[in-house]
Amino acid sequence: MTTRVRFAPSPTGMFHVGGARSALFNWAVARRSGGRFVLRIEDTDQARNKPEWVTGITSALAMIGISEADPAFEGPYFQSANADAHRGAAAQLFAAGRAYYCDCTRELVTARTGKPDAGYDGHCRERGLEYAEGRALRFQTPDDGETLVSDRIRGATAFPNRAIEDFVIARGDGTPLFLLANVADDVDEHITEVIRGEEHLSNTPKQQLLWEALGHTPPVWAHLRVIVNEKRQKLSKRRDKVALEDYIAEGYLPDAVVNYLMLLGWGPRDNGPEIRPYAELEAEFDISDVTKASAFFDVAKLKAFNGEYIRALDVSAFSTACEPWLYAPRSPWSEDAFDPEVFARVAPLAQSRIVVLGEITAYVDFLFLDEPVTDEAAWSKGMKPGADDMLAAAAKTLTGAAWQAEAIRSAIDAAAAEVGLKLGKAQAPVRVAVTGRTVGLPLFESLEALGRERTLARIEAARAKLA
Ligand code: GLU
Repeated sequence: MTTRVRFAPSPTGMFHVGGARSALFNWAVARRSGGRFVLRIEDTDQARNKPEWVTGITSALAMIGISEADPAFEGPYFQSANADAHRGAAAQLFAAGRAYYCDCTRELVTARTGKPDAGYDGHCRERGLEYAEGRALRFQTPDDGETLVSDRIRGATAFPNRAIEDFVIARGDGTPLFLLANVADDVDEHITEVIRGEEHLSNTPKQQLLWEALGHTPPVWAHLRVIVNEKRQKLSKRRDKVALEDYIAEGYLPDAVVNYLMLLGWGPRDNGPEIRPYAELEAEFDISDVTKASAFFDVAKLKAFNGEYIRALDVSAFSTACEPWLYAPRSPWSEDAFDPEVFARVAPLAQSRIVVLGEITAYVDFLFLDEPVTDEAAWSKGMKPGADDMLAAAAKTLTGAAWQAEAIRSAIDAAAAEVGLKLGKAQAPVRVAVTGRTVGLPLFESLEALGRERTLARIEAARAKLA
């Protein structure tokens, strides 16, 4: 039997990193087994749907390598397009006596059971109600026995059927609920394995009962534990940065994110290196090796991965990857101020230092802005007593120096010796005067790239500000 898995997001306007991990695990299972990855957009909540949210999903998937052009990819299917089948499934269960109509209000149930949060008491089971506006359709769960859910991550759990209430599968207006629509779609799409987040765990025994009642063999389940932040709280969009798009927009490389997400709760058995391409991880992937523990989304580790991926690029690929930050609208300088040749000279120096591409602007802005950025904290850190003497001496020695990093170093050395400062201390005022910052690219190469005239002008401006 061909393995068929699915990724079934409800469009929300952003792509959660947890969803990205689920998608990748499904993708790895499908590709490794020569099976299919079905994309199903669960778009029945019409009020909350926008067409661009759907494109957002497909483009986010493409970003992490899940391409519609790959033979393993199938879909997208739209849950809203399968409404007839959902109603058909409801009708089938009713006709088979596995579901019944119910007109009880919550208040009536509470009055009968005496408990506000008690499950449904089965009052309408034998009333033989037909459909009428306002009557919900309830699935009649078996009185005896148990539902055995096999989960490839959590093992098998037996749920006593007695403890599963007669749950609603279609609303009073006739529209089927998520529990049923989701199963009917999985049935129609011949899904063999459901790999999803553990927030759906409590739905699983109910859904397995629906599969069986509809006359089909239920899929194998695998529920992924939640992803937590450093305080062990579930990652939430109100508290944490969770949108894949935000990470990409900050300058995380998709390959690095994919590598990191694949290892979030899973590790290859071959104990090979952590940083490795997706294809190698896919070849090792087995959903039953995914941990039962919650997975910590460690941004520091993701950053470290990203830095490694940045350094592994060849320098022209690095420059291309930086482009979104080098040009309008994201660049802090105007379009005509940017000089690709000047950038090319410092690109290798920046590449070995940054861990997120968006950091590039802070490293090179001194080259393309008319004035260095103003950062008062950096200014007071760099302009300690004696700074003006150092700047005056540097202005002199730099005026006559050959304009090349080594000669610039000697000129700064000579200025430092003249004012009696160690080279480290002597560099700080020059760096702040020229770049506006206390950290950055190596100073001599920076000055070389900036040019003598601009360097001297900035030193003069800084001296004027000090005076
Ligand atoms: N649409 C559901 C969600 O986004 C997924 C349902 C499922 O995977 O079974 O949570």
